[in-house]
Amino acid sequence: MFASVSNKTALVLFSGGQDSTISLAWALDRFDRVETIGFDYGQRHNVELECRPPILNKLKMMNDEWAKRLGKDHVLDISVFGQIGGTAMTNNVSIKMDKSGLPNTFVPGRNLIFFNFAGALAYRRGIKHLVGGMCETDYSGYPDCRDETLKAFQLALNLGTDSDFIIETPLMWINKTQSWELADKIGGAALIDLVITHTHTCYIGERDKLNDWGYGCGVCPACDLRRTGYLNWCVLKKY
Ligand code: ZN
Repeated sequence: MFASVSNKTALVLFSGGQDSTISLAWALDRFDRVETIGFDYGQRHNVELECRPPILNKLKMMNDEWAKRLGKDHVLDISVFGQIGGTAMTNNVSIKMDKSGLPNTFVPGRNLIFFNFAGALAYRRGIKHLVGGMCETDYSGYPDCRDETLKAFQLALNLGTDSDFIIETPLMWINKTQSWELADKIGGAALIDLVITHTHTCYIGERDKLNDWGYGCGVCPACDLRRTGYLNWCVLKKY
C-alpha cells in the first residue's frame, strides 16, 4: 500500500550543485513537505555527493519553516549506469565537444533515468511534484534538459504509473544571471552565501580555490556559465 498523495509534497532531484540547490530552496518556499533524492552513478568526482549533507543542514538552519518542511534525503546507488561509460562525467578523459555538437560530459538520457527513479520513489512516498534544476536557457545543449523532453516524460510516467505527477523545473526559462537573482529573492544573502561556498558545479571537481562565485576551475563549461551568471548578477544588483 502506498501513502495517499498530497498536493503539497515535492521530491527534489538534489545533486549538490548550484541549480538543484536553488530548485530545492524554491520547493521549500512553496511545499509543505519536501524530500530529496540523489544518485551515486559512478561519477568521476564524488565532490557533489559530499556537498549534499552540509547543504541540507545549512538550509534547515537558515529558516525554521524550511527545517520543518525538509524531510528524508534518499541517495540511490545506480552505479550500474557507469558501466555504459564513454563520457567525461564517469571516465577520466578531458572535456571536449563530440561530433554531435554536445560536450563529452553528456551522459545519454541521464535526467530521464533520474526521473524514472524519482517517479518510482515518489509513488511509494505519496509525493505529487517532482522538481529538477534543468534549464534550457543557457545550457550545454543536453537534449534531456529540454522542456519538451520533460513534458513528454511526465506523460509517459503518468501513463506508466496511472498517476498524476507534475514535473516542476523552476529554472527552465531563466538564465544563470536570473537564477542568482531567484536565489536572492528566495533566501537573500544567506542563500547566496550557501550557493557560493557549499554547492559544487565544476566538471573537473576543483575544490581548492574559492572564487567570488564559488569553488571551481573557472575554465570548464560549467564554471564558465556559473561565473558569467554571477558577475552579470553583481552588475545588475548595483542598479
Ligand atoms: Zn570547472
